[in-house]
Amino acid sequence: MSKVDINKSWNYAAAPESTAHIQLKKKYDLFIGGDFVKPLSKKYFDTVNPANGEQIAKVAEANKQDVDRAVKAARKAFKSWSKLSVKERGKYIFRIARMMQERAREFAVIESLDGGKPIRESRDIDIPLAANHFFYYAGWSDKLEYAFPNKIPKPLGVAGQIIPWNFPLLMAAWKIAPALATGNTVVLKPAETTSLTALKLAELIQDSGLPKGVVNIITGAGETGAAIVSHPDVDKIAFTGSTEVGKLIQKSLAGIEKKTTLELGGKGANIIFEDAAIEQAVEGIVNAIFFNQGHVCCAGSRLFVQASVADVVIEKLKERISTLIIGDPLDKNTDIGAINSTEQLATIEKYIAIGKKEGADIYQPKCQLPKKGNWCPPTLFLNVSQSHTIVQEEIFGPVLTIQTFRTIDEVIEKANNTPFGLSAGVWTEKGSKIFKLSQKLKAGVIWANTFNKFDPASPFGGYKESGMGREGGLHGLKPYLKFKS
Ligand code: ADP
Repeated sequence: MSKVDINKSWNYAAAPESTAHIQLKKKYDLFIGGDFVKPLSKKYFDTVNPANGEQIAKVAEANKQDVDRAVKAARKAFKSWSKLSVKERGKYIFRIARMMQERAREFAVIESLDGGKPIRESRDIDIPLAANHFFYYAGWSDKLEYAFPNKIPKPLGVAGQIIPWNFPLLMAAWKIAPALATGNTVVLKPAETTSLTALKLAELIQDSGLPKGVVNIITGAGETGAAIVSHPDVDKIAFTGSTEVGKLIQKSLAGIEKKTTLELGGKGANIIFEDAAIEQAVEGIVNAIFFNQGHVCCAGSRLFVQASVADVVIEKLKERISTLIIGDPLDKNTDIGAINSTEQLATIEKYIAIGKKEGADIYQPKCQLPKKGNWCPPTLFLNVSQSHTIVQEEIFGPVLTIQTFRTIDEVIEKANNTPFGLSAGVWTEKGSKIFKLSQKLKAGVIWANTFNKFDPASPFGGYKESGMGREGGLHGLKPYLKFKS
């Protein structure tokens, strides 16, 4: 068991800019039963750096037999893990959190290298939040009986967890930490374009001394995910990804007793009233949509500005986005990194073309984009209406639609007029408006005078087509438990 120095603090000043301190293998196998094992499929795929298109490593592609091996390992481990004292369980989870802090720098660099997000975000947001998630749920593991009095909480068994590419390590933490705290074991699959931090987490877990098979991390694409979903010995599916795949999963599980949580797409409304602190609101708009290149399910991708301040807000917004630095994700000054994959870039470009075709006015600041890699400038669409495709469908890129409104009731109706219901933001100095909107907006998360703030204690999840179930907080434990009275 490795020793962790709990007095050591995080060193933000030593921000990573180079890849000199990271250790990556050329080829990654599957993490099953506590060891890295060759895939029975014998297949590997490339993971590439989206900022230059170059191959970083080869990653194993798990087939059905590999999934079965991982599920068997998780089932075997469940016998003893579920019976371990709740205090011991918590200690293991705490240790993972501490080791993640210790390796934060390496995780941050790999996250930006493999996924394209600015290093400032990986370093200051993704990795610390991921560690905090483990800390938070470490604390719950010995308090379940108090959280659910008279109910005798019991773990479900083997949790199959499928995560997306926009917050790779953070989503792994959101999935694994509550599963372990509740006594379940895990088979987790990262997204195919961003496997590396999950595999680094596998190495960390190996070093942490967590009993073998409690967490299994297998890599692959949609077929591997589907094999996890359909495996008869998986008791629970936790999925974060597109609404399209979420619906497929739900359909495939119809009538089957498998607890399912789905965290899907969004089309968040960001609402600016005339009494808002305009400078702060403009910063908030930028953060809401350009954070992580807009690859954020809860992004504020629809801006609603009260008509009386629309001109000034739009002018300031145009000025502000012309100062954003687009480029090398590993550069500490970068604001907007690389689009995660060529496929996603094509999707975003398709929506930009649709926006233009449907008659919206486009604004993109003049900027020099790197020659190699996947890039998209910050993009505004003005003169759009509710019926525009770019207002109704999730783009998952740095593209913001801008509409105006006159009254609070008008904006509530427009904001709710979407198939999604994940997030919303409200900018106003008036508490009464915040109160009314928090009651009336159909969204799982509503921010006031801020945006994209996350905390492990705060439940996250959507209404309507944005999914079902919650992650984070006490609510995040329930989907991993069954109860007896
Ligand atoms: P996106 O469209 O944004 O890439 P996806 O929903 O396709 O998002 O991907 C999210 C995760 O779901 C990834 O890990 C991906 O490999 C996985 N996945 C894709 N298709 C399926 C499927 N049919 N069943 C289960 N998992 C899938």
